[in-house]
Amino acid sequence: MIDVKNLSKSFGHIHVLKNINEHIYPGEKVVIIGPSGSGKSTFLRCLNLLETPTEGTISFEGTVINDPKTDINAIRRQMGMVFQHFNLFPNMTIRKNITLAPVQTKRMGQEEADETALKLLERVGLKDKAEAYPNQLSGGQKQRIAIVRALAMKPKVMLFDEPTSALDPEMVGEVLDVMKELANEGMTMVVVTHEMGFAREVASRVLFMDGGNILEQNTPQEFFANPKEARTIEFLSKVL
Ligand code: ADP
Ligand code: MG
Repeated sequence: MIDVKNLSKSFGHIHVLKNINEHIYPGEKVVIIGPSGSGKSTFLRCLNLLETPTEGTISFEGTVINDPKTDINAIRRQMGMVFQHFNLFPNMTIRKNITLAPVQTKRMGQEEADETALKLLERVGLKDKAEAYPNQLSGGQKQRIAIVRALAMKPKVMLFDEPTSALDPEMVGEVLDVMKELANEGMTMVVVTHEMGFAREVASRVLFMDGGNILEQNTPQEFFANPKEARTIEFLSKVL
């Protein structure tokens, strides 16, 4: 589904991603872990061109998305993204937040979009919040709404960048539960997280990033039981 070839990214003279080669297959749940500053967010943001690669190519279903001839907005509609800080529009109701993109991109009329929004809200237990505003919700509720908003576009893949890192501890579980359900339904997912329990339980593959490289990757069973690189062992000793 996503094919990353010789991806490098620099900010000025800081070399943040160093010649990364990676494939994401349909239905995979790839969990990316690694120390702060190792390039996890930059890598994820390159996948939907929120960051422009300095070198290399990113393909989505065979289309090179960093080719200037590619309609990147058409590609982005198929890639949902959820950030650490929700990024909901504060001046719009939850229903409007969710239906804005499907309606504006003419994927749906308002009525169909409303119907879809309510169904999705029901699935995450927040149907009664449709007419509320973001500041009336808890962090965990806001993040569940952010997930619903991304799903409303019927994406083929969901990218998550530390979706639970800004939440109070008691709200982490409700967001991870929604993500687990999504995983069980077969969604292709790429998730940057520090939640090792989620990685163990949900990942089909764990990638460990360090210093702008994918240093090591494996199934969660193998990865956690037999990490190979010294940096991986050191990192795991701090987070487990
Ligand atoms: P992680 O998500 O693993 O913590 P990031 O991808 O956010 O790492 O950042 C990797 C490195 O790139 C860091 O050194 C960070 O300071 C740098 N970086 C990220 N974004 C920018 C930017 N827009 N401008 C300059 N440097 C950046
Ligand atoms: Mg990050």
